[in-house]
Amino acid sequence: MLLIGKQPAEQLYEGMDRRIQLAPSVPGLFALYDPDDKPAGWYLRSIQRAGASHGIPVYARSFSEGVQRPREPLGGMIVLSKTPEPIPIPDELDVDGTGANSFSVLYKGGLKDYPRTTPCTAEACVRLLDYYGVPVSGRHAVILGRSLTVGRPLAMLLLDRNATVTLCHSKTINLPEICRQADILVCATGREGLVGRDCVRPGQTLINVGGDAVEEEVEPVVENLCPFKGGVGALTSAILLKHVTDILP
Ligand code: NAP
Repeated sequence: MLLIGKQPAEQLYEGMDRRIQLAPSVPGLFALYDPDDKPAGWYLRSIQRAGASHGIPVYARSFSEGVQRPREPLGGMIVLSKTPEPIPIPDELDVDGTGANSFSVLYKGGLKDYPRTTPCTAEACVRLLDYYGVPVSGRHAVILGRSLTVGRPLAMLLLDRNATVTLCHSKTINLPEICRQADILVCATGREGLVGRDCVRPGQTLINVGGDAVEEEVEPVVENLCPFKGGVGALTSAILLKHVTDILP
């Protein structure tokens, strides 16, 4: 089965649309971005398109334009950049889980629902599994990538769902063998071609977050594939906008 992000995203938008229609005003998202970071640019455009379709203002400003916040009411702020010195985001606007307080909520575990501080891509992966009914409890989840934005928070969310989690990274030895042990394999390194036929076996669910998997090789083998295009990206944007509007009554 192909696990497409659009359907669970639409479900989230339906709930958001109802609340937005009842609200006297809608808080916006402030997005600071690095104009030289190409993937950040793609993500920003997808958020802007989704925001425009659902009446959620997105105020985008590049670093070169300055970091002043807009005067309009805000429900969230994100910084789209890989700069070593990130710009701090006030706790009340942290809708992608990058601040210390958000880490603390996530790493303590025992989350009943997804608070609005949950890192959006990690939340998207788990929501996707839930939407398509892929069992998580007791299963072995192997995550490629240990970044603060994807791999580590996803490990925490899957642990909370009682998965057994293995986190892999650039120093992992014998990666294909570990990948084949997975019931759920999440590829989030951004290294194209890293995950080929030798890394998969029948029965697995593979989420190609970073475009690492060679889809024409893995799709005929695995049970479920969430492709890079049309996969978790659309759901990630929906979750981000949900977090922004979660402050509405
Ligand atoms: P990142 O910060 O660059 O982290 C990459 C991770 O991959 C690191 O932990 C790195 O290990 C690991 N890695 C690199 N080469 C490896 C290899 N040969 N074998 C095993 N692990 C390796 O990237 P990120 O921000 O987490 O994003 C990862 C990818 O997902 C990117 O392509 C990004 O564009 C994509 N992404 C997609 C979405 C979406 O919604 N579709 C959202 C977010 C990110 P070390 O720690 O050892 O360096």
